[in-house]
Amino acid sequence: MPLIDNHMPSADIQALDAAHHMHPFTDGAALNALGARVITRADGVMLTDSEGNEYLDGMAGLWCVNIGYGRKELAQVAAAQMEQLPYYNTFFQTTHPPVVALAAKLAELAPGDLNHVFFANSGSEANDTNIRMVRHYWAAQGKPEKKVIISRKNAYHGSTLGASSLGGMSGMHAQGGMVPDITHIDQPYWYGEGGDMDAEEFGLHRARLLEAEIARLGEENVAAFIAEPVQGAGAVIIPPASYWPEIQRICDAHDILLIADEVICGFGRTGNWFGSQTFGIQPDIMTTAKGLSSGYIPIAASIVSDKVAEGINHGGDFNHGYTYSGHPVACAVALENLRIMQEENIVGHVADVAAPYLREKWLKLADHPLVGEARCVGLMGALELTPNKATRAKFEDGGAAGLICRTHCFDGGLVMRATGDTMIIAPPLVITPAEIDPLIERATDALDKTYADLKAQGKI
Ligand SMILES: *Cc1c(COP(=O)(O)O)cnc(C)c1O
Repeated sequence: MPLIDNHMPSADIQALDAAHHMHPFTDGAALNALGARVITRADGVMLTDSEGNEYLDGMAGLWCVNIGYGRKELAQVAAAQMEQLPYYNTFFQTTHPPVVALAAKLAELAPGDLNHVFFANSGSEANDTNIRMVRHYWAAQGKPEKKVIISRKNAYHGSTLGASSLGGMSGMHAQGGMVPDITHIDQPYWYGEGGDMDAEEFGLHRARLLEAEIARLGEENVAAFIAEPVQGAGAVIIPPASYWPEIQRICDAHDILLIADEVICGFGRTGNWFGSQTFGIQPDIMTTAKGLSSGYIPIAASIVSDKVAEGINHGGDFNHGYTYSGHPVACAVALENLRIMQEENIVGHVADVAAPYLREKWLKLADHPLVGEARCVGLMGALELTPNKATRAKFEDGGAAGLICRTHCFDGGLVMRATGDTMIIAPPLVITPAEIDPLIERATDALDKTYADLKAQGKI
């Protein structure tokens, strides 16, 4: 079978990449001067580049390759579905078996009465769907003014204009503007913003900002609150235990829909099927994507409660949908992914084996002189780099230390992401203790080298 040519010299691929390919979230000129790493194959938790270097993928691609690379079953299911029914839509009184089967499977897996599914192709699109869904829901209840959505600073909900407006990334808002009627409250980021408060007190304080924001806007004007159970791209921000129960109380008390953006937390990342279960909340809508297909094919789903679905269903036409909503090949691949997850008890592996093992080793990294805090939940973790552990100080040139560390990780055969000066991991869920050991060794080695570099530069 013809594959995309993997056998060009790396420099030729890099030159073509620089000439024609625009990279997401990238300074194009800076990248083109350096040349991109060319990843050519992957298996299990390992990546291989065009030079034959191997890397342990501490980020599961982009938080998505939950079952690991190289599962042939997914390829086979995709091929079979393409042969039988490569495409059909579900707009005009039609449906097809893969979309029905996946919707039913998601209804079975999702907690509570989240029994209805609207499909999209990416987490961003699913969150755009959610904006329209919650506003239309309230309009259909005779409350069209109930349309403001409250989110959080430093949230990540995707990159379309709607999703980035929900998100709280000011750098994104600055480029292209924002969708109206979305506001942002402060995040439950104790390490970075907690000051002298203890974590639980701070968690309550940040949750109650939601109540204050609802009061400011008037609850008759607020449609929903959206949040990630654990902020991922924001730097694996794990809220204090006091935070989520208070958020749930406030949403219930003020008749505000709760949207849990489970694009990262969903499908096992936190040691339960959904982050909402880990944090004991019952959302009205969950956004899912990434781990839904383990990244093998684009697909996303808004999983919706009985109440919201009934409201939408009795609101006339829902004027919304994507050509590829519920694409049969994507649905078939996602179903196979979920079948493997269930059959191999991968969520149980996270909860009982991989996460406890990682936790024990990861939290010890806080002993390193460069690390102000090590935190993790399930198989996602963060290390806060600091010039002064005692004061949780930030580096003056924020982000430079993180980039140095990221480079040392790459050079040492580990993909670890830097968000500013916070190093983050989210490895494939199938990672074993024998693979976590080198992850920790390589991370430690990169921290040592980063520390030495920063000392030499006089920054520590
Ligand atoms: C990645 C992500 C998204 C956006 O998903 P895309 O598939 O990149 O559009 C939305 N929400 C969260 C929490 C994410 O991590």
